[in-house]
Amino acid sequence: MNKGKNSEKASASDPEAEHRAKLKAQEFADYRDIAIRMDKIGHKILVLSGKGGVGKSTVAVNLAVSLARAGKKVGLLDIDIHGPSIPQMLQLRNEDLKLKEGVILPVNYKNNLKVMSMGLLMEGRDEAVIWRGPLKMKVIKQFLKDVEWGELDYLIVDSPPGTGDEPLSIAQLIPRADGAVIVTTPQEVSISEVRRSISFCRKMSMDILGVIENMSGFICPGCGAKVNIFGTGGGPRMAEDMGVPFLGSIPIDKGIMEACDEGRPYLEQYPVTETAKEFEKIIKQLTTGQTEDDTKDIEAKSDDQTIRIALPITADKLFAHFGHCEAFAIFDVQEESKKIVNRFEISAPGHQPGLLPGWLHQQGVNVVITGGMGSRAQELLVREGIKFIIGAPEDNPEAIVNSYLAGSLVAGENICDH
Ligand code: ADP
Repeated sequence: MNKGKNSEKASASDPEAEHRAKLKAQEFADYRDIAIRMDKIGHKILVLSGKGGVGKSTVAVNLAVSLARAGKKVGLLDIDIHGPSIPQMLQLRNEDLKLKEGVILPVNYKNNLKVMSMGLLMEGRDEAVIWRGPLKMKVIKQFLKDVEWGELDYLIVDSPPGTGDEPLSIAQLIPRADGAVIVTTPQEVSISEVRRSISFCRKMSMDILGVIENMSGFICPGCGAKVNIFGTGGGPRMAEDMGVPFLGSIPIDKGIMEACDEGRPYLEQYPVTETAKEFEKIIKQLTTGQTEDDTKDIEAKSDDQTIRIALPITADKLFAHFGHCEAFAIFDVQEESKKIVNRFEISAPGHQPGLLPGWLHQQGVNVVITGGMGSRAQELLVREGIKFIIGAPEDNPEAIVNSYLAGSLVAGENICDH
């Protein structure tokens, strides 16, 4: 008797087996659809933590914002079902989900950054949501399948905390992810949670891009000095013990908390503080694979000084009216090699007369290139030691900076002198 044939026959007439087969086929189709969508994305980075409240979303938001400011096309996906905080952190709580031809469109947050959060799915957005296990998985899968990101350089995924079913299914569902960043705190590094996160990634064959120790030390709001309340060295030691890269430490900083409450990312509001430098150091290691020591070596070898050039902009074009602009494009340029090494955008602080020159000085700007500028602003820039070029054309800011560096920028009239 051929047992196999009989059982095949039985299953063909068995509705339950048929249902199971259909589910399997559906599951396969879902994986395929997710893979097709994810294929258009260059790098996929998961931000994980062993427990909630350690700053995972803070890191995810600032990583995404920093990459977008550097000109990368970035998506930020918040699938922390229990506490999706990204809409609050980016002031998107009143945004509604937009559907178009069967796909979900992410929300555009400023240039280059698209955002999608579970929080935008929830009716009462301030309430904790209790989802049943299978439903949770279904929603996460749907999100990965149906959000139309288009082509992206980076997708940053703010995963649910812990090492349970949710981060597990996300890790399984995202094909060819670059790896995971694990966020922890000094109190946590010595205990089991972070070690569990590391073992979790290893079990999933997910690369660990590194560990970030958040809330490490305290920046005094009075004098700006860093106080190491919990001592130092715990994070790097733990990372070394576990054989994973240590990316850096971020202090407890009142500015981070305030930025979160106000719904503005910290790096957008305070791009040149000591804390911002720590963030940038971490992000540089993540995106270039260079460790802090490599970076120090490169800096030591290079005598090339960096200058910072600011241009008032609107929609990626030079904006003619210096005093009325909403944003600046900032370029860091190596003076000798004339190479642009960093580019980001920053919102202007407001329109009070006389405010911009001092503020630009605080941002470390050495040169301003603009279409038009009033005489008072010129006077104040001179006082701040900032050089300026007036009468630049309303072109793409990077093209203008390149012509300035090549010595071929043709400056015309002062097209707006107020
Ligand atoms: P998680 O995603 O791990 O739950 P969040 O990123 O939502 O954590 O951060 C929890 C709270 O802690 C937020 O209010 C955030 O502003 C604050 N926070 C995070 N990191 C810092 C820091 N380094 N300094 C001050 N406050 C911080």
